[in-house]
Amino acid sequence: MSSTSDAPVAPPQPSLQPNANGATDTNGLPSSVFTLPQTAQLEALYTIIRDKYTSRGDFLFYSDRIIRLLVEEGLNHLPVVQKSVITPTGSTYDGVGFEGKICGVSILRAGEAMEAGLREVCRSVRIGKILIQRDEETMQPKLFYSKFPQDIAKRYVLLLDPMLATGGSAIKAVDVLMENGVPEDRIIFINLISSPEGLKTFSGKFPRLKVITGWIDQGLNEKAYIIPGLGDFGERRYCE
Ligand code: URA
Repeated sequence: MSSTSDAPVAPPQPSLQPNANGATDTNGLPSSVFTLPQTAQLEALYTIIRDKYTSRGDFLFYSDRIIRLLVEEGLNHLPVVQKSVITPTGSTYDGVGFEGKICGVSILRAGEAMEAGLREVCRSVRIGKILIQRDEETMQPKLFYSKFPQDIAKRYVLLLDPMLATGGSAIKAVDVLMENGVPEDRIIFINLISSPEGLKTFSGKFPRLKVITGWIDQGLNEKAYIIPGLGDFGERRYCE
């Protein structure tokens, strides 16, 4: 069958499609994993940032758009309490307000790119940072630096890292957060692209921690890059 130029084109589907509302899916993904709605518009944003010929300016602009969607989705998972307000008409509106305080924690350096998106949505949000690198002797992820709000144990934490590849850094980051008193179920991990193997490893270790991911890709190559992925997020974001 031939196609006409103005015929709607169905967006290609990701290789794994977890249930968008988080129920246990048929592909064996954990129920704690949530994706953004896989719309044609989102697919278009990802197509731009995946393209190796996309300029740095466009990469910044379109990855920021996705980050904003991810932060908003992350906030959807925070608990609320009843809150009533008086409107300018003198009426009472029985609504809700966020229950607790939040903070962002970015995994350096790529995670820092997500801080502005969080600040756009949550003005004056407190932000912590973690630097994790591979120990050259043990080849295991090692904590090199961390700085958190002093009351982090009482906050909900939005953990920020754009790419979930093997899951090693994210697992180490959660270990550090939990050592600092943050309960597992008060952490929400936000990323743009996940590998299925990274998701399974991460969520297998932390089943009560919610993961909000924009897209789940096919897998990892021999250098632990996500395929098809977008290359090195930090390089695309910070270098020409
Ligand atoms: N980090 C990146 O920036 N890209 C990948 O594909 C994997 C990890």
